[in-house]
Parts: sequence; structure tokens; C-alpha cells
Amino acid sequence: MNYAIANFKMNKTSDEVEEYVCELRQNLKNNVKTVICPSFVSLERAVKASFGSLIDIGAQNLFFEEKGAFTGEISIGMLENIGVKYAIIGHSERRQYFKESDDLLLKKVKAAANRLKVIYCFGETEEEKDSGKSLEVTFNQLNLVKSFFEKIILAYEPVWAIGTGKTANAGESFALIKELESKLGSLPDCLYGGSVNHKNAKSFIDAGFKGVLVGSASLDVKEFSKIIEEMS
Ligand code: PGA
Repeated sequence: MNYAIANFKMNKTSDEVEEYVCELRQNLKNNVKTVICPSFVSLERAVKASFGSLIDIGAQNLFFEEKGAFTGEISIGMLENIGVKYAIIGHSERRQYFKESDDLLLKKVKAAANRLKVIYCFGETEEEKDSGKSLEVTFNQLNLVKSFFEKIILAYEPVWAIGTGKTANAGESFALIKELESKLGSLPDCLYGGSVNHKNAKSFIDAGFKGVLVGSASLDVKEFSKIIEEMS
């Protein structure tokens, strides 16, 4: 089964998320795993709005400690308690703007892997790509979480393709995944993310990816419904 995962990032109020989920649940495909990741404050309403449908709700981030003096953080237990099933870890915006280190990401994956379905993001920057370092960088990002491969899913998101309209070539991207597989052994299901829309979504499935992680194009429920259709 292919995945269609929407990452709303810091967009949509709780009212808007609820309205979106109510509309989307009319347009699902039962052979596509559909996951919506709104902001923390909308998660509970999203779970309620999706109740009894094929939609699962995911968080965009989490913290690895279970409770305590960590102002502003959200624990895995808090997410589980409201019915959240997935969590994105290692998104490039977290790595880049919030300085999330390998050490921190490993702690998050370790804490979450047995409790939520982790979508672990990895991908090289434009500079790394231009200097021929794509394989080395992505290898290191994956090798970090290798011991959790049986429990997580992956999302290859070349940083230069995120929110830029510059989609990566599907065949070249999957060739990189194959190369990583030859070095790391068998990989978990791997999605593609980075400027996906309903026109290019299918090319990633045809190339071998198991679905897509969609930012900008997921914000429009009609566009995201078309992407789901391309995944079926
Ligand atoms: P985009 O974002 O679809 O807007 O490029 C994808 C992502 O960041 O997951």
C-alpha cells in the first residue's frame, strides 16, 4: 500500500484543519495510507474529525523525554493519549532552523519507534549535491537510525527540492535509494518529498518509492485528493 502524507507545517488553524479533514474523508482511496500532520494545537481535533475514516493523524515533531521540566515540548505519551499514530522526525526544517542534531534525532527515533509510526526524513542540501556528496550525506543520515529500520518508514527529501518547485528526478532519486540499500542492507519503505503535486506524484511511485510526503500542495484539499488518487 502506498502512502500519501500531508505535512501542513505551520499552516492552518484548528477550524481549518477540521474542515479539511471532514472534506478529505469523503475522497479517500482504501488502498492508500493517508496521513495528515497538522500543527500540535490542531492534532486532537484532527483525530476527532478523522474518527472512523481511513485517515491517520501524525505529529510534525516530538520530544524524547516522557515528562518533566522541558518548557514548550510535547511528549510521545501526550500524542498517544489523543490518538496520534504517526510522527515526522528529522525534517530538514527542524535540522536547519531549529538546529536539531544527529544526537537529538537519534534520541527521538529511539524513544518513538516502538510507540508511533516514525517517518524519518533525510536528504542532502543543494551545496552537498553540487559537491558530489549526496550519497555520503544520506548514508550518514540513514546509518544513524539503522537499528530502527524494522520499525520506521523513510522519506527522502532533497533539501533543495522542498518548497522550491524544483522536483527531483524520480529515477535519479530512486537510484540513490538503491545505492543506499546496497550499502546498508534492506531499507524500510521509502517515500519521496519535495515539491510533489498531482502531476508529478505518480512518477515517484513508478520509480519505486512507496508514496509521497507533501507540503505546499497538501494545503489544498482538492489537490491533495488528486495526489491520493495518483497513489492508488
Ligand atoms: P513541499 O514540502 O511539498 O512544500 O516541497 C515537502 C516537505 O517539506 O515535506
